[in-house]
Amino acid sequence: MSGFKGLAVPGPTNMPFEVRQAMDVALEDHRAPDFPEFTLPLFADLKKAFKLENGHVFVYPASGTGGWEATVANLLAPGDKVLASVFGQFSYLWVDMCQRFGLDVDAIDCEWGTGVPVELYEQKLAADKEHKIKAVLVTHNETATGVTSDVKAVREVLDSLGHPAMLFVDGVSSICSLPFDQEAWGVDVAVSGSQKGLMLPTGLGIVGVSQKALDNRPKQGFPKCFFDFDDMLKTNKDGFFPYTPATTLLRGLRASLDMLFDEGLENVWARHHRLAEGCRRAVDAWGLSLCAKEPKWNSDTVSAIVVPEGHDANDVIKAAYHKYDLSLGAGLSKVAGKVFRIGHLGYMNELMVMQALSGAELAMRDAGIPFESGAGVGAAVDYYASTEQSAALAA
Ligand code: PLP
Repeated sequence: MSGFKGLAVPGPTNMPFEVRQAMDVALEDHRAPDFPEFTLPLFADLKKAFKLENGHVFVYPASGTGGWEATVANLLAPGDKVLASVFGQFSYLWVDMCQRFGLDVDAIDCEWGTGVPVELYEQKLAADKEHKIKAVLVTHNETATGVTSDVKAVREVLDSLGHPAMLFVDGVSSICSLPFDQEAWGVDVAVSGSQKGLMLPTGLGIVGVSQKALDNRPKQGFPKCFFDFDDMLKTNKDGFFPYTPATTLLRGLRASLDMLFDEGLENVWARHHRLAEGCRRAVDAWGLSLCAKEPKWNSDTVSAIVVPEGHDANDVIKAAYHKYDLSLGAGLSKVAGKVFRIGHLGYMNELMVMQALSGAELAMRDAGIPFESGAGVGAAVDYYASTEQSAALAA
């Protein structure tokens, strides 16, 4: 088939030409004397992207899953208790990892389509008079269901109770796309990956860690080597790594951070909100609903769209892929066959969302899902045409 392939999955996302170009370079010596001139400002700028003032952002040749593992392996000890909640495939997988590490996991099972149950967290933390809970886990944006949770509210609960548990946040599909402020929200660990808001290929696991969490690392923790914060801190302070870093991806990361800062993080967040809103208008006009149970859970990076009873969302995904060269996100685990997802994060503009919406209409028509042709596309057109891009974007 000729023409561009459409990529509307919620990661990997579309890669800007600037980022591609920055990576089209000869391989370089990661122990060169001038390598730190490149890496030290990069580390500093990553902190800006996470809005972390005190602490360090670790960059592993890994993915988001590696970021979870680095967090658990460095900051917890065997048998430690953690409080978590499961409301989608990624919040589930993080809990699963904690269990495999032998942690004592109190995982609250929530309806998929909802998010972190802040009131239940409050009850559990209030009842934990002996402060056995060492960490509270929050999946900021559950990519499987298109649900965003309130990280700040969890910090407020911890503070109001004077509970010392660390706050661990999975920001894989939120950081650099949704409002996020690691320092102001008192987030001890923020895990991300390169292939979503950072618009890079997969291959970097990026973990922002507060100074407090670094200072309080357990003496008798888990065995670790590849993910050991100590080795990273010792070498990173001079601009180096304990092993061969993914230099090509780091070059891309430089370009991606430059683009994000040029646009302005707040403008990036505003752009994501507006693009997402257009998508939601389309879903509404199709007469369909989101997996997110209430508007307060709506994610500005991904929409999981529920197909009507008696239809299989995989038919939509297959038609989009095979007939129209468009990748839509599949439903995972409990919502397999029930939802298809449109990722509207990273390097995205109105036309790219419109492409996904038009492709979804074509594919839904093929899959026999009833809706009025053009209804969703038209609703998005009306919305985008009647709302302003932020001033900085338009400039
Ligand atoms: N957490 C969330 C919210 C995700 O969306 C993903 C991947 O999509 C992960 C964790 C796992 O990250 P990775 O696939 O980069 O290991």
